[in-house]
Amino acid sequence: MITCAEAVKQLWDYLDGIVEESERELVEEHLSFCRRCCGELEFAEKLRRFLGSHADDELPPAVRARLTATLDELGQT
Ligand SMILES: [Zn+2]
Repeated sequence: MITCAEAVKQLWDYLDGIVEESERELVEEHLSFCRRCCGELEFAEKLRRFLGSHADDELPPAVRARLTATLDELGQT
C-alpha cells in the first residue's frame, strides 16, 4: 500500500498518462480508499482539467467514473 505522499507524487504522472501499469494500479488503488490526499485542491484542479481535455473513449469508463466521484467528493469539502 502506498502512502498519500507517494500517491500524490504519482498522481501527476498518472494524470499525464506516463506511469507504468503497476504504478497506475497503485494510484487507482489508493484513490479507491483515500479521497482526501494532501494537496487535494491542487489535485482537483488538475483532475478537472484532465477530465475536460480527454474524450470519453480515451478513458476506461470505470476510471472516469471513479475520478469524477473523487472530484465530486473533493468539491464538497
Ligand atoms: Zn491519500
